Amino acid sequence: MIVREMMSKTILSTSKIYDYVVNPYVGCQHGCRYCYARFMRRFTGHREAWGDFVDVKVNAADLLAREIHKKRRGVVWMSGVCDPYQPLEEKYRLTRRCLEILVRHGWPVAIQTRSPLVTRDLDLLKEAAEANAGLSVTTADDAVRRLFEPLAPSIPERLDALEALHRGGIRTYAMIAPLLPGAERLMEYLRDRVDYVLVDRMNYRHAAWVYRKHGMEESISDGYFARAGREITAACRRAKIRCEIVF
Ligand code: SF4
Repeated sequence: MIVREMMSKTILSTSKIYDYVVNPYVGCQHGCRYCYARFMRRFTGHREAWGDFVDVKVNAADLLAREIHKKRRGVVWMSGVCDPYQPLEEKYRLTRRCLEILVRHGWPVAIQTRSPLVTRDLDLLKEAAEANAGLSVTTADDAVRRLFEPLAPSIPERLDALEALHRGGIRTYAMIAPLLPGAERLMEYLRDRVDYVLVDRMNYRHAAWVYRKHGMEESISDGYFARAGREITAACRRAKIRCEIVF
């Protein structure tokens, strides 16, 4: 793993998903097989595989403290092309320092992560003007998770994190994306832990070989996505949880 500290030029970028996005890191230690963010390699000069390098924007919080005064208040997404709570965050605390600034200025935040480290910042999220905290939970089967997300925290750890956030009074969501084999059973575990659910099939191009290697091609078919989408929607309706299928 190559870790490089660097100075970024900007940090608060406009986003198509929310108003803004903050990425304190370039690269991601979780190295998910299907990750769409691997296109970022092109902009870094890194030759290592996706998951084998991280650039740490050590001036992220200083930049945000300046840029927040130059932009109109809006929802800030953390993060779009890295996991803001990847293991290096424990040492660098860049996500936390950025959150402190956003909270202090009363800006709304939307967190998206695969890591229970997010619960470290429960105190800050409670103080936020508005906070949505989401865990990406892609399957109910941790053996499947290990095939596609071998370096990311386990599914039970993510469910525990959702529970802690939800109990802490934070508005929580599960991002079921990509919809991996076994995702259709997730609502059994999510019903008391989330306020809403987002589902997407995403782009499976980079991970197609994993499906082939393990004989799971059926789970990449339109038929599987339609069936899993129906089952999750029905389970959400029974649990009275809002569900958005975005494919
Ligand atoms: S956690 Fe997110 S950004 Fe990181 S490798 Fe996985 S999908 Fe990509």
